[in-house]
Order: sequence, then C-alpha cells, then structure tokens
Amino acid sequence: MIKLERVSKSYGGQAAVDAVSLRIESDATTALIGPSGSGKSTLLRMINGLVEPDSGAVSINGATRGATRSRAGRAALLRQRRDIGYVIQEGGLFPHLSAYDNLALMPRYLGWEESRLRRKVRELTELARIRGDELRRYPQQLSGGQRQRVSLMRALILDPAILLLDEPLGALDPMIRHELQQQLRDIFRQLGKTVVLVTHDMSEAAYFARDIVLLRRGRLVQQGAIDELLNRPRDPFVTEFIHAQRRPLWSSPPPG
Ligand code: ADP
Ligand code: MG
Repeated sequence: MIKLERVSKSYGGQAAVDAVSLRIESDATTALIGPSGSGKSTLLRMINGLVEPDSGAVSINGATRGATRSRAGRAALLRQRRDIGYVIQEGGLFPHLSAYDNLALMPRYLGWEESRLRRKVRELTELARIRGDELRRYPQQLSGGQRQRVSLMRALILDPAILLLDEPLGALDPMIRHELQQQLRDIFRQLGKTVVLVTHDMSEAAYFARDIVLLRRGRLVQQGAIDELLNRPRDPFVTEFIHAQRRPLWSSPPPG
C-alpha cells in the first residue's frame, strides 16, 4: 500500500499540494483526477521521490521515506525508485537513443547479461504489442502511440511493483487513444501491479479504476468509486466536475 500522510508542497509560497492524506490500494488501479494545476503531477512525483514534500510522510509498503538529503536516505530512495515505473505524457524517452537502447539503459547500468535483457524485451514486446524491428528506431521515428508503448515497456523493464502514469494518453489522437485505453486496461489486469494513473478525463478514470481520487487546488476533495462520486458527492465541486465532462464511458465495469 502507498500511504500519504498530510503531504504538502509549495512553490513560491503557493501550495501545489496541500495536506493530502491518502491510501492507495496494492495490486489495483487508482486514478488521480482534477483540473489542470490541481496538483496531480506533483502528488505523483512525491510518490516516486522526484519531488520531496515540504512536510508530511510518504510510505510505500510500510517503508516510510525519511530525509533524503542524507547519503543513506538517498541510497534508500534510489533503491525504492527502481521498484516504481514511471510513464509521462510525451513518453520521456531519450531522443538520441534507439527505442531498444532506451529500454536497455537501466538493465545495462545494473549489469544484466544481454541474454537476460533480450528475453525481457521480447516478453514486453508481446505485452505492449510493438514489433521487434520498431525498437531499432529512434523516438522521433515512432508514432505517438508507439512511443507510449515503448515508454510503458521501459517503465516495466525492472518489473517494478508500482507503476505510475502521468496522463500517458493525453497527447494521442482520439482513435489511438481509445485503442490504447483498452489495451492498457488489459495489461494492468494481466500484470496485477499497483497502478496510479493521472488523467483529467472522468470517463477514463472510471474506465481504468475502481478507486478515484479527485483533487482541486492541491486538496483532496473525494476518494471513492464513480457511483459514490455521482451519488454521494462530498462537495458541490464533485458534481460540477463530473457534469463538465462528456461521454459517459463508466457503463463498462472497472477491473476487479
Ligand atoms: P496538475 O498536474 O494537476 O496539472 P501540477 O502538480 O503540475 O498540477 O501543478 C500544481 C501547481 O504547482 C500548479 O500551480 C503549478 O504551476 C505548480 N508547480 C508544479 N511544479 C512546479 C515547479 N517545479 N515550479 C513551480 N511551480 C510548480
Ligand atoms: Mg500534470
């Protein structure tokens, strides 16, 4: 379980995340949702340690993250981060490396045998439905959808327990997005990992996750299933936010 206890982070005196307490269930998909600027990305980066909270505590499967400024603290953080895969909107692949070399980066750093690397890549190639020859291309030579498939593979290469995705489908055109939504949901089911997916689309949140966390201006407004948000809103903003969205995709049941 991922546990946040009153975590806060400010930039220039403005709270990006404001005293958020949250529990994220293991081996299930949770969606973080909210308007632009509500603190979704900052919250996700506090989970993987890219952003250090000003106050509050992050704990992952019982291990509370201590001060990361000490040498021991940093080493512990780096170990923990290897167990967390991270995918961002534009993929975040290194442009000067082929897709394959992007995948190989951490395994080579960790001293994997090439045969082990090839085996793992082959396994992920099937999972992410990409062709082997496409992995020889550079990121700019791939379509947006292919880039996200490679980013997903890179995030999974060390077989992390936790997978964080920050609007992974946000930059894709609607057809590709729809196709990838379906495939990603199947992949999450198949993997059974702890997945935290950021989106600003309520139908996407409900499609992927039973547990939805709605943020507004750095604060947690409500956490629950889509029907709880619909039928027992904790704040008028919950209803407003849902009704501001279009196409109800939540008629298809979430996983689990
Ligand atoms: P979201 O992902 O929900 O759009 P963010 O977490 O990116 O929101 O940002 C929340 C708030 O914090 C925004 O007002 C944003 O401008 C600010 N913010 C986020 N990261 C930084 C940063 N590195 N420096 C300054 N301000 C930031
Ligand atoms: Mg964001």
